[in-house]
Amino acid sequence: MNFNAVYYEPDSLNYTLGRELKQKYDSLPWTPIESHNKIVEMTSKPNTEFAKMKKNLIIGVRKTHKYVENQKVSDFLVPYTSSGCSASCLYCYLVCNYNKCSYLRLFVNREQMLDKIIKTATKSERPLTFEIGSNSDLVLENTITGNLKWTIENFNKTSNGFLTFPTKFDMVGPLLNLEHGGRVIFRMSVNPEFIIRKTEFGTSSLDARIKAVNNMCEAGYKTGILIAPVVQINGWEKLYGELISYLADRLSEKVKKQLFIECIFMTYSYVHRAINAEAFPNAIELYDKEKMTGGGRGKYYYRQQLKAYGEDFLRQELSQKLSEAEILYFC
Ligand code: SF4
Repeated sequence: MNFNAVYYEPDSLNYTLGRELKQKYDSLPWTPIESHNKIVEMTSKPNTEFAKMKKNLIIGVRKTHKYVENQKVSDFLVPYTSSGCSASCLYCYLVCNYNKCSYLRLFVNREQMLDKIIKTATKSERPLTFEIGSNSDLVLENTITGNLKWTIENFNKTSNGFLTFPTKFDMVGPLLNLEHGGRVIFRMSVNPEFIIRKTEFGTSSLDARIKAVNNMCEAGYKTGILIAPVVQINGWEKLYGELISYLADRLSEKVKKQLFIECIFMTYSYVHRAINAEAFPNAIELYDKEKMTGGGRGKYYYRQQLKAYGEDFLRQELSQKLSEAEILYFC
C-alpha cells in the first residue's frame, strides 16, 4: 500500500511495532502529533481532500479499551489494532463516526489489547466471541502490520473463546497456513460487482472475495457471508438476485455446508452526503428521499416497508439458491 505521509504519536516509537513501522516507512515524511484523535491539520481540510487524506498513515497508542456488548455473531465489539481504512466506501459508517478522520490509524500496543481479550475469555464460564474488526478492515491492515497473523497465532496458544472479523478484501494468503484451532470466524462482506465498482472504492472484486472465502474455509476457518450493505438503488432486486445465484455457483461445497449469512441494509447520513458530494462528485447518489427516512442525528434509513419487502425478497432468494446456509439476521 502506498502512503504519502505518516503522522505519529512519539510514544508509539517505544513499542516494537512502532519501531518496525518507522523502519518500513522511513522514506516518507514523519510528522509528530499530540493525539491520533485530533489532527487539526487534517480535520480542517475541505471535503474535496477526503480521498487524498486517506493516503496518510496515522500511528498511535490506543487508550480506550472499552468493550461494547453485542448479540450478533459476537458477544463483544472490541476496539482493536486499527481504526479507519484506506479504502473509500461511500456509505462507510466510520465516516459518520469519525467524519473526515476515517483514514487508517494503527495502534502499536497490540500486546495490551490481545492480553485483555485473553484475560476476559479465560475468566468467562462460557466461551465468548470477540469481534475485533468493527472499527477497521483487519485483512487490509494485516498487509501493513502483520497484526492479524500475529493475533491468530498468539490467540491459538490460549484455550478459551473465539475471534471474528469481517472484511471486503481478499489478501488472506498469510492466514491460510496458520494454526488457528478452529477458533477464528472469518466473515466476508459481499455485494453485486456493480455496487462494488460504484460505491466500494479501493476494495477487492467480488470474484476475489469469493475465492478468499473458499480458501479460508479450505484452511479450516469457520466462514460466513455478510450481504452488506444492501443498497436498494433502482434495479436492486435483479442485482441481488444475480449476486445470490453467483454465490451459489462459485462458493465451494465445503463453504455452503457450514455457511451462515448476515444481511444488513444500508444506512446513510447527512455527513456522508456532504463529504461524498465534494470528494466524489461523479459517484452515484445513494440518498433517495422517496426510499429513505430520517432517523435522527442526521441519519437516513430505508423506509420500513421497503426494508420489509427487501428482507422477504432476499430470504426467498437465499432459501431457493443457498438453502443449506443459516440466515443469522437481517437488520
Ligand atoms: S472497507 Fe470497510 S472500513 Fe474500509 S471504507 Fe469500506 S466499509 Fe469502511
